[in-house]
Amino acid sequence: MMAGIGYRGIGMTSQRTRERLVERLRLRGITDPRVIEAMRNTPRHIFVDEALASRAYEDTALPIGHGQTISQPFIVALMTQTLLEKPSLTNVLEIGTGSGYQTAILAQLVKRVYTVERIKALLGLARARLRALRLKNAHPHHCDGGMGLPQYAPYDGIIVTAAPEYIPESLIEQLSIGGHLVLPYGRRNQQQLVRVVRTTSGYKTERLETVSFVPLLGGVQ
Ligand code: SAH
Repeated sequence: MMAGIGYRGIGMTSQRTRERLVERLRLRGITDPRVIEAMRNTPRHIFVDEALASRAYEDTALPIGHGQTISQPFIVALMTQTLLEKPSLTNVLEIGTGSGYQTAILAQLVKRVYTVERIKALLGLARARLRALRLKNAHPHHCDGGMGLPQYAPYDGIIVTAAPEYIPESLIEQLSIGGHLVLPYGRRNQQQLVRVVRTTSGYKTERLETVSFVPLLGGVQ
């Protein structure tokens, strides 16, 4: 286990601050009870540096080192809720593990999650957190996920948590028919969060929200 995780304890911060966050998510349109339950049960404070733990239940993105951020809870909830509109999610892919928070939410709601991260140090921490929470159906990989993870395709759902400039064709190809891809794309300051649903004849795209994600980058480090 990595230093700090067991030490800080799981579920030790005030239940009240977490309730307040869940209430805020409801007000912003998160209505799926499965998502609400997962957000309520997941200790976000173990996914951030100890110095920021007291801010973990604010509805805001926070730095996780290496120039990356843990996503804002509302966006995590929205992406998850959108993905869950597809019935029976068996095989899901997340691109951009980061802190592992979105992975932990997904792992409680779908059968199997593959998650890929290009920064080895972040992946190591995320892996330890997922292990501490005993989420054995989450499978972290250290690789460049810009083109997806073809070896475990097709996926019923793909969530991308870093923004490419354009929607990568290869991600749509790795979806099963009826599968949902939820991703931000576009240039910094003008990104859109969209859902792409693969159909028998092609795909259809739907806009969800204006967002601000870190960019999807190539290569590993
Ligand atoms: N889901 C994360 C969000 C982290 S920010 C969380 O809840 O904490 C996005 C992450 O995507 C960063 O850690 C970044 O390193 C990673 N990333 C960016 N481009 C990538 C790529 N091509 N392949 C894999 N990971 C990538």
